[in-house]
Amino acid sequence: MACVNVSAVDPQRTSKKRIAVIPGDGIGQEVIPQALKVIRASGADVEMSEFDWGADRYLRDGMTVPPDGFTMLGRDFDAIFAGAFGDPRVKTNIHAKEILLGMRFKMDLYANVRPVRLLDAALCPLKGVEPKDVDFVVIRENTEGAYTDAGGVFKQGTPDEIAIQEDINTHKGVERVIRYAFEYCEEHRKLDGSPRGRVLMCDKSNAMTHAGGLWQRVFRDVSGEHPQIAAQTMYVDALCMQLVRDPRPFDVIVTNNMFGDIITDLAAGLQGGLGLAASGNIHPGKTSMFEPVHGSAPPIAGKNVANPIGAILTAAMMLEHLGLTQEGGKIEGAVLEAVKQKQTTQDIGGTLGTREAGEWVAEKI
Ligand code: ATP
Repeated sequence: MACVNVSAVDPQRTSKKRIAVIPGDGIGQEVIPQALKVIRASGADVEMSEFDWGADRYLRDGMTVPPDGFTMLGRDFDAIFAGAFGDPRVKTNIHAKEILLGMRFKMDLYANVRPVRLLDAALCPLKGVEPKDVDFVVIRENTEGAYTDAGGVFKQGTPDEIAIQEDINTHKGVERVIRYAFEYCEEHRKLDGSPRGRVLMCDKSNAMTHAGGLWQRVFRDVSGEHPQIAAQTMYVDALCMQLVRDPRPFDVIVTNNMFGDIITDLAAGLQGGLGLAASGNIHPGKTSMFEPVHGSAPPIAGKNVANPIGAILTAAMMLEHLGLTQEGGKIEGAVLEAVKQKQTTQDIGGTLGTREAGEWVAEKI
C-alpha cells in the first residue's frame, strides 16, 4: 500500500478536493478500495492520497500516527476517508485508539453524524415497515462523555478494587453538538425530499442527574432559538424500546458519546445490519473524517464477504459534505438499485463477494 510523503501534497497545487484515505485494518482494507472505485466512477473531481496507518504498520515499525500526523491532515486535506481499526494481533488496541480516537479528539470532530435509512423493506427485521418509515439521523457527541478514558483504578486485582470511569460533559461540548443538531435539521431533507422538523435529545437525566441536568438546560435554551423545530426529550432506555416498536416518528436524535454508540448499533439493525451504515465525524469548517459505522470485523476479514455498502454510502456522504452533491447522489442511486436487484453481499441476501458488489455499483454509475 502506498504511503504518501506528507510534503508531497501541496494545497496550492490544485483546486480539486483533497482526500486522505486510511483503509486501516481487517475489512477496512477490503471495503475502502471498493468505495474508491465507486468515487472514481462518479466522476468526482477529487485527489486521493493513501496512508498505511494501521496494525500492519504498527507491528512493522511501532508507528501509529506520525508526530505531526493530525496537523498534516487538517492542513493538507479537505476530508479524511477511513476504514476500520482493530486487529487481534495488537492486544492493547493502542494503534486503533491513537489513530481513530486521535482523529476524533485531537482534530476536535465533535459531531458524529449517522444517518439511518432503510433501503429496502426486506432488510428491516420489523414487520410492515417501509423505507419511508426509517429515515432518521443520530448525532452523537464525539469528543467527551464516558469515552475520554478519564478515571482510574485503585487496589487493582484485590477484592477491594475500585474502578472509576468519569463521564465528562462540558457546557461548550454539549451546546455545540445540540446546536449542530438543530442546524442539521434545518439544512437537511429526508430521502423523499420532505423537510426535517423535529429534534429529540436523548439522555438519562432521571438517574444521571448532574450530566443530564446540563443536557436538559442547554437543550431547552438552544431549542428556544429554533421555535419552528419541534423539540422533545426522551430517556435512552425508553428510546431504545420506541425505536424497535415504531421507528416512524424519529427525525434528528442528538445524544452523548456512549448513548450514541449504543443507539446507532440498534439503528443499524433496523437498516439491515452494520454492513450498510455510514457516518461522518464533523467539525464545521474544519477537515472532517468519514468512516463506515462497522469495525474491522476480524472473523470475516480477508474472505471477500464484507459488505462494502456502508463504506460506499460513507463516500457519498463525504462527497456531499464537500459540495459534490451530484456525485454523492449518483452513488446513492446506484446503491439503491444494487439493493433492489439483490446485487449485494450475502449478509443482505445477495450472492456477490465484496469486490463484485463494489464493481456492480461502480458499473451501474
Ligand atoms: P468496533 O468495536 O470496532 O466497532 P465491533 O467488534 O463492535 O467493532 P464489527 O467489527 O463492526 O464489531 O463487526 C461485528 C460483526 O458484524 C462482524 O463480525 C460481522 O459479522 C458483522 N459485520 C460488521 N461489518 C460488516 C460488513 N461490512 N459486512 C458484513 N458483516 C459485517
